[in-house]
Amino acid sequence: MNSERKTRVAFTIATLAAAIISIVFTVRRRTRRKQRESISNSCYSHSEPKPQSTFKRVLADNSYTPFKHLSSKASGSNVNGNRSNLHPFEAEITSLLSDHQPEIELGAEKLEMNDSYVWVDTEMQLKELVEVLSKERFFGVDTEQHSLHSFLGFTGLVQISTQQEDYLIDTIALHDSMEILRPVFANPSICKVFHGADNDVLWLQRDFHIYIVNLFDTSKACEVLSKPQKSLAYLLETYCGVMTNKLLQREDWRQRPLSEEMVHYARTDAHYLLYIANCLITELKQLDNDNPCSDDKFHFVLEASRRSNTTCLQLFTKEIEASPGESAALSLFSRHQSNQGFPSVSNETQFLYTVRQLCTWRDLMARIHDESLKYVLSDQAIVALASQLPASESEIYNTIVQTDVNAETGLSSCNPSPSPVVCSHLSDISRLLANELVNHGDIYSVILQNCLGQNGSCKLNIFNYALLVNSNPRPTLLSYKHSNLKNPRQHSKKASRNSFVKKFSCKSPVYHNCRIFANDGRLLCYCDRKKLEWYLNRDLAKLVEEEPPGIMLLFEPKGRPEDEGNDFYIQSKKNICVGCGEGSHYLRYRIIPSCYRIHFPEHLKSHRSHDIVLLCVDCHEVAHAAAEKYKRKIASEFGIPLYVRRVIHPGQETEKPNDEGGVSPLQLRSAAVALLRHGPRMPLERREELTEIVKKYYGGREISEEDLESALQVGMRPYERRRFEKKRGVTFKHTTGNAVAVPQEENHADYAPGINSNVDTLNIDALDSSYANEDTVSGDNQEDDFEKSSLTSNLAVDKATSNGNTILAKTTNDNDDDDNDEDETSNSAVNVDDSLSKSQPNVASDLSYSKDEELLRDEDSTQAKHHSKLSLLGHGPHGKHVVDHLLKEYGEDGIREFCQRWRQVFVDTLKPRFLPGGWDIKHSGKRDFGEFSVYNHLKGAAAAASSE
Ligand code: AMP
Ligand code: MN
Ligand code: ZN
Repeated sequence: MNSERKTRVAFTIATLAAAIISIVFTVRRRTRRKQRESISNSCYSHSEPKPQSTFKRVLADNSYTPFKHLSSKASGSNVNGNRSNLHPFEAEITSLLSDHQPEIELGAEKLEMNDSYVWVDTEMQLKELVEVLSKERFFGVDTEQHSLHSFLGFTGLVQISTQQEDYLIDTIALHDSMEILRPVFANPSICKVFHGADNDVLWLQRDFHIYIVNLFDTSKACEVLSKPQKSLAYLLETYCGVMTNKLLQREDWRQRPLSEEMVHYARTDAHYLLYIANCLITELKQLDNDNPCSDDKFHFVLEASRRSNTTCLQLFTKEIEASPGESAALSLFSRHQSNQGFPSVSNETQFLYTVRQLCTWRDLMARIHDESLKYVLSDQAIVALASQLPASESEIYNTIVQTDVNAETGLSSCNPSPSPVVCSHLSDISRLLANELVNHGDIYSVILQNCLGQNGSCKLNIFNYALLVNSNPRPTLLSYKHSNLKNPRQHSKKASRNSFVKKFSCKSPVYHNCRIFANDGRLLCYCDRKKLEWYLNRDLAKLVEEEPPGIMLLFEPKGRPEDEGNDFYIQSKKNICVGCGEGSHYLRYRIIPSCYRIHFPEHLKSHRSHDIVLLCVDCHEVAHAAAEKYKRKIASEFGIPLYVRRVIHPGQETEKPNDEGGVSPLQLRSAAVALLRHGPRMPLERREELTEIVKKYYGGREISEEDLESALQVGMRPYERRRFEKKRGVTFKHTTGNAVAVPQEENHADYAPGINSNVDTLNIDALDSSYANEDTVSGDNQEDDFEKSSLTSNLAVDKATSNGNTILAKTTNDNDDDDNDEDETSNSAVNVDDSLSKSQPNVASDLSYSKDEELLRDEDSTQAKHHSKLSLLGHGPHGKHVVDHLLKEYGEDGIREFCQRWRQVFVDTLKPRFLPGGWDIKHSGKRDFGEFSVYNHLKGAAAAASSE
């Protein structure tokens, strides 16, 4: 080829290339523009296939319905197969907890990793693998996850290693066949070795209904051995001389074929587990030999096995929020409020409102398209949109690009910005920012209809199908307009259970679920945002995860939390009832009743998080009742009565009632009486004053007529109650004579028996943690019966009042309390004895309480500040006397034992199934786990408590 010709060819090629490039760019640009302009009819989801869309069996879809676990029936035992929130292998696992000794015996030789491994991607191969595994006594396992392009995440790879072979299971190709592995994983005579199995346990349940029975977790073994670190990287280096690059765990594990590097990483994670386990078990055994085992001695091997298998008892749950996007919105608010590099906004209310709307939108979009939240729309973009409120679609587009470009400083996210989801649905955002969607009533259903409804824009698939089918899954969402942001004082007269639950349960997730990672990527702990910010502000950490936020420490922490024997702190606190797993509402519950706890020495109080758990209304009631019963037991055991009647005569009073920061029973009753009798005729101001008093007792919530009725009974002595009851009975007869409907009929469905008494007991606990667990009425044994019997008359009265009947005036007419209800001064709030019927407080003079309300509602520490620690609505000096007695007789150990007794009561009563994995009756709060003496000691105490 001569040179001229060469040049010509080169020129032609160049021209052609230029043309092609220009065409490609034009097409791209067009596609972009098209993406940008396209409204509902062309969602990106039609063009971008996802590996998970090939899955046929999806156990955890993106709807708001709770996860269904494998039924016990299917797992072979013939227990009621329908209860989907029970662990199907609970019995098998529990039996391992008592005396199981892992038997891993390898030769001394380390299993070097050669080049051969088996890639398993056909059902046939998987069956062969099961054949092999069934004959093993133990095998090592690890899993890899993909979480960016999936709402809940899915397992991209499972690595299994035997002494002979490494198997890499392509869980994408074999997603629908993975159940073949269930039997070997559930086989109690085959030991599965994992490192840090907490997540894997849940992921395998979520994707394949695979449950692990007989686990040996090398990280748990590290804990028991008090190793300086318990990361796999550390073990690999220490025992095998192998270095691993943990950054690879964040690769895209959907990739096929896997890169050589990824294969190597994945194999390494499972290959050495058997050898490491062998080493660790040898060390554990050595310790046991050094400390010959008697009954009260710590047994190391057993303990490691027990902790491992406890992990297996965890159950996967979907985190279901009170309303979609709520926790994300809250976390954005708090970041905004602490001014963390967020712009200031002129209209705060509008800003918060828009953030919430956008978070809801993002949550729903992520579910519909099966993408992670952070992929759909970044936090910073939400903030930018909410503060700038761009009007046109192109302005919205640009705002997002700009924000994400600016934010892309440190850890670069390679996410396209805006995401294809946003590009396909720009019009949604535009309408949302213009407040148009609100006018349609419900952002949620409008979007759902647009995307998945008839002629919907987006792909309907197995992940989002249930969203459409259960089109009314989130009643709380239906009217954003009526949410407390806009209309805080919506008052419903009928105190149904639902409204109770709505009002009193913690609406937003209680725990922040922020995460702290070590610099090797291992999860160190979950914490609240404050802690996270503390590190960030000091440049001790960098932000590595957006939502929920996670930071990576820039230094090697001196000892990790779990090394110190307290794996409680590494457990994610799920926002569910620890009793039954209910996720839609929950209340804080204090396992150790406040009446004792507030008197503990300060340093023993500091383990609050361990002993405050979330319970749904039903579990709360059960736990509370048991606690009350146990208090009476304590009272008789210690000879310290629950109620000491103090009569303080006029002039003798030393404590002002408002020192107590509560509402005295007398105050409460007289306010209630006055309201019931004269409420409608009172000057508005006065009525509000009195209402405030009663509301305070109910934690500030709106009160109804029957709340007033119940308030009348607070602080009554049994005989007074009986008298009250009798009078009410009379009144009741009157009203039925007056053709008032019988309570069971008509629209009293909301008032199902038991519900009122729920409210009675629970509102106290719910609204005010300082009251939690304390009896608000008489602690007399008759109380429960009383409450039940009063229910019927409550119903009648309610019915009567709602009919405009003046029955209540009659109730109080023949009550000798009420003649002087407004003109006598109170002697003392704790005086609930014989002076009760004679004297009533001057209600007007007692209004100074209300400021204390917030304080009181806070944590113990606040309460401890009150000079007198005797809660008016509690048990007077009982708690203090018990604590003093314990301290005097047994010192602080006495307090610890006492706490364990309460935890035991709690566990025995509720048999809680969702406690954080590290939760422990024997939790001591002590950090020096190395001394097993603590354990021994506590063991005895727990035994003593349970043998009672
Ligand atoms: P590993 O067993 O340590 O390889 O981790 C298993 C899976 O957990 C990985 O495939 C990741 O999906 C996920 N993972 C663990 N640590 C991190 C992290 N620091 N960042 C993101 N993903 C992680
Ligand atoms: Mn791994
Ligand atoms: Zn779409």
